[in-house]
Amino acid sequence: MDHAQTAADHAQAARGADELAQCLSLLLTYTRLEPALATALARIDTTDMTGPLDEAGLRAELAEAQAERDANAALAERYARSAAARVPGGPCSCCGHPAGRHARRLTEDARLPCGHDRCRCGDLVFA
Ligand SMILES: [Zn+2]
Ligand SMILES: [Zn+2]
Repeated sequence: MDHAQTAADHAQAARGADELAQCLSLLLTYTRLEPALATALARIDTTDMTGPLDEAGLRAELAEAQAERDANAALAERYARSAAARVPGGPCSCCGHPAGRHARRLTEDARLPCGHDRCRCGDLVFA
């Protein structure tokens, strides 16, 4: 390996590390000024993330987190209703379609309408 190449490689690595150091020290400055930002950053598990934290990346992560929240809220509601009716799952007693065919997210007024074609059942019910 020739010395010129090695020097260029190290110079490039140094520039890359310097850029990262500047980004991190900027973040540290702002998190010191804004505790809510520090808390938010501390709660984000970056190992789950696949892309850069630019605006598009953040929006994609936000949409994914909201979808997961909604799906889990709907599942929690479904299990709560099932438990309250003392029925372990089973089809909807309103329309007869499986509970899994009903909405994967709650409506604004906390209903789980049926998603089956042309079914007009507006809320999942366990009798
Ligand atoms: Zn239905
Ligand atoms: Zn139904």
